Amino acid sequence: MTKVRTRIAPSPTGDPHVGTAYIALFNKVFAESAGGEFILRIEDTDQARSTKASEQAILDSLNWLGLSWSEGPDVGGPHGPYRQSDRKDIYQKYTQQLVDEGHAFPCFCTSERLDDLREKQREAGEDIGYDGHCVHLSAEEVQQRLSAGETHVVRMKVPQEGVCVIKDVLRGDVEIDWKQIDMQVLMKSDGLPTYHLASVVDDHLMEISHIMRGEEWISSTPKQLALYQYFGWEAPIYVHLPLLRNADKSKLSKRKNPTSITYFRELGILPEALLNFLGMMGWTMPNGEEIFNLQDMIGAFDVNRISLGGPVFDQEKLNWLNGKYLREHHTPEQLLQRLVDWKFNAEFATQLMPLAQTRAETLGDIAPLLAFFFQGNPDLTEASFAGLKLETEEIKNVLQLILWKLETLRDWQKDNIFADVKAIAEHTGHKFKDVNAPLFIAITGSTASVSVMDAMAILGPDMTRGRLRHAISVLGGLGKKKLKSLEKEFNQISAFLD
Ligand code: GLU
Repeated sequence: MTKVRTRIAPSPTGDPHVGTAYIALFNKVFAESAGGEFILRIEDTDQARSTKASEQAILDSLNWLGLSWSEGPDVGGPHGPYRQSDRKDIYQKYTQQLVDEGHAFPCFCTSERLDDLREKQREAGEDIGYDGHCVHLSAEEVQQRLSAGETHVVRMKVPQEGVCVIKDVLRGDVEIDWKQIDMQVLMKSDGLPTYHLASVVDDHLMEISHIMRGEEWISSTPKQLALYQYFGWEAPIYVHLPLLRNADKSKLSKRKNPTSITYFRELGILPEALLNFLGMMGWTMPNGEEIFNLQDMIGAFDVNRISLGGPVFDQEKLNWLNGKYLREHHTPEQLLQRLVDWKFNAEFATQLMPLAQTRAETLGDIAPLLAFFFQGNPDLTEASFAGLKLETEEIKNVLQLILWKLETLRDWQKDNIFADVKAIAEHTGHKFKDVNAPLFIAITGSTASVSVMDAMAILGPDMTRGRLRHAISVLGGLGKKKLKSLEKEFNQISAFLD
């Protein structure tokens, strides 16, 4: 029997998402329960959106959770490199092979033609997709245009009829009509591959036996199966895991809830509690035990016991579980040590001292002044925002706009944060101090404390955004309609600022 090898293949395009940790956990547990290996590959072919900072944050977060890998960009291994941007030549070679064998073709269509095509298809109520225009070019014409250096991409051919049957361990046979499958671009005009080509080539060369990934990828599987067939490679076994959901069963997204692993870390969630919690997403221990660790899960794992019922990422449950760990798995001395490791240490506290120095008269003043730095979300009610210049609705609006603005801030520094808040105040026609007042309360939990800009800089992006979100929800939240119109306003502001 071939060795079980699984992988997590994150795209480093944002915060380290709890969904990535969930998928990584199941991949690791599955591989190790079968005596196999779990590896990590960075899928950074989207050069515009990928960042080194995001890659590092993903590696750090997975390590923090104890989800170690035996091969990866940081630890190396026999199938490297493990970062797709370091594998360009490999993809070029395999793309050429597909073209030479007639499974793929250069496409010279301009983006204007493609936009036009989409528009026509939309108007005619047809499926949106490439119409095969360049498949029919003569070999001479293709040669001529390539020699002339004309910009092009490479697209794959797909069967024009019949059904693709995906064999999924949890779902049985999933059928998708080939008609619905587009002639996917494999190689972009910048010489970088798309996800589909790169992941198939890499999964094959890295000897991945089982692909466990989120169910949102099922619709991509036919293209990937076709590629395996074109290359004459054996396809891996697919396990599409159920997506994590919000309480309202919609897909877990940062629009509605915090999803960054760093947020939960900052909040004071223990890694073992978060891991245990993620293990409860679609899975239960055979003995029904709710408290289990990685080794317990590996020991008891059976892929067929994963349930497809749409696991809800319920933060209250996570808090409850975390509380259980604090109470039942720590002596007082150990608990104190966890607190020190978390934030009660000189490294973190030193940066707070300048803020307290200007405001304290006795040492006893300092702890209350700084307490909010050691809090999850401050204790807020609607009354906390009473008596401000802005009305409740206006407060929610500006906090939401600031939240979105800060989501795009790459360089998290006091001056940049200040500039963003100022920009929102200006564009909404409010005085800076009127916007700053509710912001102050949302972040520090009180009307008088240390400087809010300093506070946000030190709390970091995750805690800041978490607190803004918390304040908005304490004030009654924003309905779907309101969010839509605010989003429009935000886009206008952004366009203006760019
Ligand atoms: N890079 C993809 C992601 O970000 C990986 C999808 C897959 O596992 O095939 O999730």
